[in-house]
Order: sequence, then structure tokens, then C-alpha cells
Amino acid sequence: MLSDFRFDRLFINGEWVAPLDGGVRGSIYPATGQPWGDVAYGGKSDIDRAVAAARAAFDGPWRRMPGWERAAILRRFADLYATQVEALARIESRDNGRAIRESRGDIGLHAQYYHWFASLADKLSGRTIPMDDSVHAFTTRLPVGVVGTITPWNVPLMAAAWKLGPALAAGCTVVLKPAEQTPASSLALARLFDAAGFPPGVVNVVPGDGPVAGAHLVAHQGVDKIAFTGEGATAKNILKTGADTLKRFSFELGGKAPHVIFADADIEQALNAATGSAWALCGQSCALGSRILVERPIYDRVVEAFRERASRVRVGMPLDPATHMGPQAHQQQLDKTLSYVDIGRQEGAELVAGGSRLTAPDLAGGYFVEPTVFAGVAPTMRIAQEEIFGPVAAIIPFDGEDEAVSIANGTPYGLAAGLWTSDTGRAHRVANRIEAGMVWVNTYRYIRWSTPYGGVKTSGWGRENGIEALDSYLETRTTIISTTGRFA
Ligand code: NAD
Repeated sequence: MLSDFRFDRLFINGEWVAPLDGGVRGSIYPATGQPWGDVAYGGKSDIDRAVAAARAAFDGPWRRMPGWERAAILRRFADLYATQVEALARIESRDNGRAIRESRGDIGLHAQYYHWFASLADKLSGRTIPMDDSVHAFTTRLPVGVVGTITPWNVPLMAAAWKLGPALAAGCTVVLKPAEQTPASSLALARLFDAAGFPPGVVNVVPGDGPVAGAHLVAHQGVDKIAFTGEGATAKNILKTGADTLKRFSFELGGKAPHVIFADADIEQALNAATGSAWALCGQSCALGSRILVERPIYDRVVEAFRERASRVRVGMPLDPATHMGPQAHQQQLDKTLSYVDIGRQEGAELVAGGSRLTAPDLAGGYFVEPTVFAGVAPTMRIAQEEIFGPVAAIIPFDGEDEAVSIANGTPYGLAAGLWTSDTGRAHRVANRIEAGMVWVNTYRYIRWSTPYGGVKTSGWGRENGIEALDSYLETRTTIISTTGRFA
């Protein structure tokens, strides 16, 4: 179905159309730095027609369709998605450079996200509220309306699943604007929505530049909510751009997750999780444990293990199944990562492994960088405070629970945290004090459709996944009916 798919058209109102005021550009394969194919980009006029289509679909068939019928279409789509995992994984890895083994693992789960939200589409019940005999009061859950979803380049299909699943289950219609660096997989996704038989306009996909197409979607009076995943700085711009419309916003933003390893932990397990998470997605994931907090008695052992394991990471072409870590997704991110390596050196951290761009002949032109480890990192250093989004682990020693908690909470972020300890009481004590939307204990990055995901502090507003995700796509209407016919 996707083998001969063309990426040079937008998906608006159930049709494949040429951009009106955008264009067609080459999308870059990060492993070579060269374009791999032509992809359509929309401009403001394309956003206008996508929003008009989404509005017409919302006011027409979609919001009036019984929940079980919406669920049936969403299930059909999920089943189709499950048959296309390999094709979608290859498209995404080519566009953002992620190792194919990771793309397969991640994308292989997405059908279940859509199935899970489909199973909630006919269960959006309100509640009755006891008052007195003169009135009957109850609530009804109603879809927010037209949702603009704006997604990042690191995990385009995952970010889309986490938004479109609950939005469609709630009865909203959607305009999806993927990141300009990685638009291809979202257009392939549109092909599956098309084939699954969604009414025209329920899902529209318009890639485009953030400050043009993205900002226009945010400012649009016809859009009722923006669901955004990306950087905090962009979220602040979005709030300003959308302020006049007073629409709803949900934000999944950056992180600087602490991975806290106590001396009483199962060290091998902790190392497997901590090293794996430091370099997964070439460091380009919000929930990776980029700060490794290590209790002092095991500090030297952990630093040595990181150094040794970094040398075993197979960096290579994204579509090679043997590759552990592909390139950074684009030139700007490569430059950012390398600049933080310089910052770490200048700050006096000890570079234990990596730190350079890889330029071997088979990797020439690609945005490859070595898995990198800094030890002796002070919690106040910029490499321990700021989101690098590259494969750079910062190892920080600590003494005891209080210091661990103080360092863990000592950044503006609060997305995720990991704890490793064999002491159950300590696990509860420390988890309870950590400022993060998610805390994993003796595991890491275990994420599923049913578990709420999101950040505190500057890491976001609202939750994706879990029943909580539906809340941000629903409004509550309260109805109060007089049972006596008299105005009281
Ligand atoms: P980004 O903020 O640069 O871009 C995200 C999206 O916003 C893109 O689609 C972009 O085109 C759009 N955009 C840019 N400027 C805009 C504007 N002025 N108005 C409207 N839209 C605009 O983020 P990124 O670099 O693509 O992604 C990396 C960031 O995403 C990291 O900070 C990462 O931590 C975060 N992230 C968070 C989660 C999470 O679940 N919390 C998941 C993945 C990524």
C-alpha cells in the first residue's frame, strides 16, 4: 500500500492536492545529508482550506456519529496500521535517521494506541449530580472541536498517535502539521486514514514550516485547540500567537530526566537501562535519562561501565538492522550537540568517551556523532541543566537520598525520572519527592497507551495517553432541568 506512495501532495478534505502557496521540497536523509525525495509543504492558504474541511466534517457527520461507529472506523484504521509497520518504520527512519530496529519497536506499538482509544469512543459518559427534588442535574462530555496538532521531528508517528487517538475517539476533527524536517511519515499516515474510510475532512495532513503554516494554524479562529509536542521556546511563541483566540492548549515539551542509581541497586540492570536510554534515538527523545546521578560508592564503576559500553555502540546507517544508533536528525541538531560538547569541556567536566562527529568514508556527509559521556559533572553546569537532545550522558555523583532529590529536582524541567534501588521504602520515599510527571522504579521508559504521560514545571501542560488524555479533547456541559416546571 505504501511501496509506491507519493509524498508530493497534501491530504485535505479526503483528497490528495498540490500545495496552493507552499511548494514541493527535497526532504533530507540525515545519513547522507542529501535529499531522498520530494515532499509537499503547505502555506497559509493550505492551512485555511484544511481548517475549513475539518470544521465542515466536525459540524457535519463526525460529531453526530455514535461513538461505536467512530470506534469501528478507528479500529479499522488501527488494523490497517498494524499491517504497515515495516513500511512506516522505513519511511520514518529515512526521514529522521532513527535506527530501523528502534523505529520498528516504537511503530509496532502504535496500532494498540489507536485500538485502546477506539475502545473509549463509546464510553464518554458524564455523571448525574445529586441536588434536590426540584432539579435533575447531569453532565455531558462533548468534543472540543477542530484540533490543530503540531508534532516534532524526533518521533513524528508516535506524537501523532498520542494526539489523534484521543482526539478522534472524543469526536474532534484534526489538522496535523508535522515538523518541516520530517514530514514524510505523516503523509503516509494520511494514506492509511484515507484507506480506512474516515469521512472527508476528519483528518487532514499539511506539512509546513513552523513559523508559517504552524503559526497560522495556532492563530486560526477556526481551530478550537492546539495539541503541541516540541520545545518550550516554541510553546511560548505559540501561546503568544494564539492568545487572542483563547483556544485550548496542551503541551508536551522538553526534559532533562535524572536517572538516579543508588548503591544498593541491581547495578547491571541499572546500567542496561541508563546506557540504553542515554543513546536511544541518538539522544533525541524528551524522556531519556540524560543526567545519570550515581551514589558515590558505585560512581567509579558506573563511569567505567559507561565508557566501555559507549565503545560498543554500533553507529551506522539507519536502515541497517545491525545499527544501534543512527545520525542526528538534521544539521542544526548536530551543531547543537557538538556545541554542548565544547561547553562541557569548557565547564571542566571530564570527557570520558566520544565527543566528535563521525566522518568515516561510509558515514561521510551524514550527521553522525559518537556516543558521548561526561563524568565529574556538577549539577549547575549547563550540560546538566539544558536539554542537549544529543547522545550525551552527564554523570553526576551524589551522597544519600536528600542530595539525590535536590539534584534531581534542580532543573526547570519535570518530565520523567528513573530510580534504581533494592530498598522498597526508599523507592517510595524518593519517588514521592521527585518533581516529574513520570517516575520509573527499577525500569525505564516503559510507556503504554493506558499510562498517562506528560510533564510538570516547564515540561508541559496536560497529559497524553491514559484516560486522562481524553480530558483535553472534551468539554463538560452541565444541564440542570427543573422537575417541577417552576423557576426557583
Ligand atoms: P520544535 O519546537 O522546534 O518544533 C516542533 C513543531 O513546532 C514543529 O512541527 C515545528 O514546525 C513547529 N513550530 C515551530 N515554530 C512554530 C511556531 N512559531 N508556531 C507554530 N508551530 C511552530 O521542536 P522539535 O525540535 O521538532 O522537537 C524537539 C523538542 O520536542 C524537544 O524539546 C523535545 O524534548 C520535545 N519533545 C517532547 C516530547 C514529550 O512528549 N514531552 C516528545 C517528543 C519531543
